[in-house]
Amino acid sequence: MEGPKNEPERKPLADRDRMSDLQRLRHSCAHVMATAVLRLWPDAKLDIGPPTDEGFYYDFDLASHRFSPDDFPKIEEEMKKVVKDNQVFEKSIKTREEARKFFEERGQRFKVERLADIPEGEPISFYQNGEFIDLCAGPHVMRTGNVKAFKLLRVAAAYYRGNEKNPQLQRLYGTAFPNKTELETWLNAQEEARKRDHRKIGKQMELFTFDDDVGPGLPLWLPNGAVLIEELEKLAKETEFAAGYVRVRTPHLAKESLYKLSGHLPYYAESMFPPMELLEEEDRKKRMELEAKLVSRRSQILGSIPESEPTDQSLKDLREGEQELFALMKQIREHGTRYYLKAMNCPHHHKIFAAVPRSYRDLPLRLAEYGTCYRYEQSGELMGLMRVRSMQMNDAHIYCSTEQFAAEFRAVNEMYLKYFKIFGLDKYQMRFSTHDPAKLGQKFVGEPELWKKTEEMVRQVLKDSGINYVEIANEAAFYGPKIDVQVWSVAGREFSIATNQVDFAVPQRFGLVYKTRDNKEETPLCIHRAPLGTHERFIAFLIEHYAGNFPLWLAPRQVRVIPIGEPQFDYGQGLVTELRSHGVRAEIDRSGDKLNARIFKAEEQKVHTMLIVGQKEQDAGAVAVRVHGQGDRGVKPRAELVAELLQAIKERQP
Ligand SMILES: [Zn+2]
Ligand SMILES: [Zn+2]
Repeated sequence: MEGPKNEPERKPLADRDRMSDLQRLRHSCAHVMATAVLRLWPDAKLDIGPPTDEGFYYDFDLASHRFSPDDFPKIEEEMKKVVKDNQVFEKSIKTREEARKFFEERGQRFKVERLADIPEGEPISFYQNGEFIDLCAGPHVMRTGNVKAFKLLRVAAAYYRGNEKNPQLQRLYGTAFPNKTELETWLNAQEEARKRDHRKIGKQMELFTFDDDVGPGLPLWLPNGAVLIEELEKLAKETEFAAGYVRVRTPHLAKESLYKLSGHLPYYAESMFPPMELLEEEDRKKRMELEAKLVSRRSQILGSIPESEPTDQSLKDLREGEQELFALMKQIREHGTRYYLKAMNCPHHHKIFAAVPRSYRDLPLRLAEYGTCYRYEQSGELMGLMRVRSMQMNDAHIYCSTEQFAAEFRAVNEMYLKYFKIFGLDKYQMRFSTHDPAKLGQKFVGEPELWKKTEEMVRQVLKDSGINYVEIANEAAFYGPKIDVQVWSVAGREFSIATNQVDFAVPQRFGLVYKTRDNKEETPLCIHRAPLGTHERFIAFLIEHYAGNFPLWLAPRQVRVIPIGEPQFDYGQGLVTELRSHGVRAEIDRSGDKLNARIFKAEEQKVHTMLIVGQKEQDAGAVAVRVHGQGDRGVKPRAELVAELLQAIKERQP
C-alpha cells in the first residue's frame, strides 16, 4: 500500500518547464495508457498520471474491474494503436467554470477536486490526443507517435491523495524510453537486480534470517552467513595487522555519562536505543529512604490543608509543599544509572587511549575492533541487511600527531584500494566533504588552522594516489573533514559502504593527550575509518555484487566431494579429511541419488568446487573437477588439485 508520502507535490509551472525530455516522454506515455484504458473500460474514473524515477503511473478508479498483469498485453496492444495513429497532443485553455462543467458531465469527480489544486491565476490547461482529453499542465511530446518504446510494469493499490481515509484507486505503473534498445537494457538491468536481491539470495543460500521474537532489524546469521563474516574478519585482521594495527575489545553498552562526554547525548539520542536503568545496591537503599521521606512528607502536607476556605497563606504553603515533593521525586530518579547500547565504538576506544599514559613513541596508535553497534532505525526504514538495528563494524581509530596525519591517511586510502581490488570493484568514488569557513564555531568546530591543514593534506593524498573523488563543500562532519566511499556492483548498482573521517574535536572533549618529545602535552588527531563498513551492509553488497556466486576463499560451501558409488566413499572421505585439515570447507555427498541430481543440487547450492570421484579417478589418485557456473575442468592429480585450491584460497583469488 502506498503511504501518504507517495502523494507527489504539485509542481509549480516553472518546474514543469524544466521537465526533462525523458519525463516529457514518460508523462505523454501515461496519457497514451489512459487513452487505452478508457477505450477498454469506458467507466474508469481518472485521477493523475505523473512521471516517476523509473517511468510513470496513472491512478484509476474502476469498480467494475480489478487490473492484473494479465490485462497488460491487452492494454499495451491498445496503446500501440494510439501510438500508430500518431495523434497530436493539443493544448487548450478553459476557464475554471468550463473545466468543472466538463468533468462533472463526464462523472470525473477526482478531476473536479483536482481543479481546486490549481492556484488562482494559473491557466487551466487541457491536453487532447484523439478522443482523450485530460486536465494537464503539460508539457508533452508533439505526437503519440513519439512514444516508441514502453512497457507496463505492475499494478498496485493507492489511496486517493495518499490518504487512507480516501477511496482506494488502482495504480498502473509503466515505463517508456526513447527507443527499444534503451528499454531492453533497462528491463534487463531490473531483472538482474531482482535476481541479485540480497534478501532473495540470502534466503536461498541460508545466509541470514530475521525472527519476530528476536526483533525487526536484528539479523540472525545462519552457519553459511557466519562463514562470510568470519572470512571478512580474517581478511580485515590480517590486513590491519600488517598495517600495524592493534586489536581491542569493548562491551556493547556504556553509562549515559560516556555519551554525554562524547556529545552523542542529547544530539544523537533519537538514533540510539532507549536507555535501561540499573539500580546498584547503594541506589536501591537511597531510593527507599527517599521514597519513605516522600510518603511521610506527602501525608504531612495533605494533613496541613485546612478544612475551611483556603487562605492565601495555606495556598502558598501548599504550593511550596508541592515543589518540595517534586524535588524529592527528582532526587529519587537521580539514584540509578542509565546505560545505553553503544551506537558507535569511538567513545570506548577513546577511553582505551586514555587508559595508559601515552607518549609520542606510542603514536600512531591504531586501535581496531569489529565492534557491534546498535542503532534505532524506524521500522519502516528497515530493509533486509541494508538497514538494520544491530551491526558489526570494521572499525578502527587512529590516534596520531599532525605531522603523522598525511602518512596515516594515505595508508588508510591504500587499504581501501587493496580491498577494492580483492572484491573486483573497478568503479568507485570518494566524496570528500569539506567545511565552510563562514560557519566555523557553529556547524563546524572552531579550529580554522586544523581545518585548513587537514583538508589540504587529505586533498593532496587523494590527488597523489590518483583516486577518483569529488569535493563537496559545507558537508563535513562537525569535528572534521570526511570521506564517504561509494562503490558500484558489477550489476551497476551503487552502494555507499564506508566512511573515513578526521576528528580534531572529540579527542579534546575526552582530554586525550600524549607527551611530546620535549615533554609537553599535546592532543592527538583521530582518524575514524571503516573500509569494509558493517558486515550487514557490506555482505548485502557482496551478495548482490557476486549474485551469491562467491569466489572460492569466500564461498560458504567451498568443496563438495561426490563419489560415484559406495566403493569410492573411503577415498572421497580421505580427500575431505585432508582438505579440512588445511581449513578448507569440504564435505562429501554420500546420498544414493543419481550423479546428475547430485551435481544439480551442488550447483543450486552454489558449492564452489565439485570433485567427482569414480573408480578410474580413485585408481589414478585423481579427481574430476567441476566449478560452479563454469562446468567441467577435467581430471587432475589429487595432490595438484589440493595445492591449487589452497593457493587460490590463500591469495583470495577472484
Ligand atoms: Zn498530462
Ligand atoms: Zn569512530
